[in-house]
Amino acid sequence: MRILVANDDGYLAPGLAALADVCRRFGEVNVVAPEQNASGTSNALTLQRPLTVWTAASGFQVVNGTPSDCVHVALTGLLDHRPDLVVSGINNGANMGDDTLYSGTVAAAMEGYLFGVPAIAFSLAQKGWRNLESAAQVAAEVLRGVIERPPSAGAWLLNVNVPDRPFDRVLGLKTTRLGRRHPSEPVIRQANPRGEPIYWIGAAGDAREAGEGSDFHAVAEGYASITPLQCDMTDHAALPAWRDWSQALGTLGK
Ligand code: MN
Repeated sequence: MRILVANDDGYLAPGLAALADVCRRFGEVNVVAPEQNASGTSNALTLQRPLTVWTAASGFQVVNGTPSDCVHVALTGLLDHRPDLVVSGINNGANMGDDTLYSGTVAAAMEGYLFGVPAIAFSLAQKGWRNLESAAQVAAEVLRGVIERPPSAGAWLLNVNVPDRPFDRVLGLKTTRLGRRHPSEPVIRQANPRGEPIYWIGAAGDAREAGEGSDFHAVAEGYASITPLQCDMTDHAALPAWRDWSQALGTLGK
């Protein structure tokens, strides 16, 4: 088993070291991670400048780019092999519901999935690493599960969130759908020392759709949630209505 480990919090993040340690129990591990904290960078690739890769004292390979850059570079030239699994995290904070669209943690895993490699994103639901050991134990259980009982042939993508509590108080694993959040808080406007306005992106919104069966619900109850993700953004349910609309409109006046 060869496992590629990445994250979005950067190569010095405690969650990355913890996940790499867990993965070493299951096989040969390569860690390729961003030089800077790249949380919230989603699936961005760096196209306007070259990337450099250097090796840290930890042995981790460090890329001056995004989480997606790390996995992309690893899979398409840096590694001399194709990994069997891409894992990302353990993130400092939740990636539930709409977070998955912005998350660099999920994106790093998704980059593996897009290349046909099974992938898992791990996040600890509360910032601060207080229960990192608990999240690492959950990660070990999930990894043991997918290695001993591969879920399916081909690639799949899992998003795992671990509640902020000790492992002996995690109630179990629950398979969930993504919930939804309220829109983000407004930007915070301040002035820089020259009196010019600056803006900080506001905090993520609270959970709006957090009902039974959602990731928010499971984690709030004390379960680790596992959500299978896909990348098809087509609104299949709306296709017929849009076909009718487009036909009624006439295509480009013809
Ligand atoms: Mn992060």
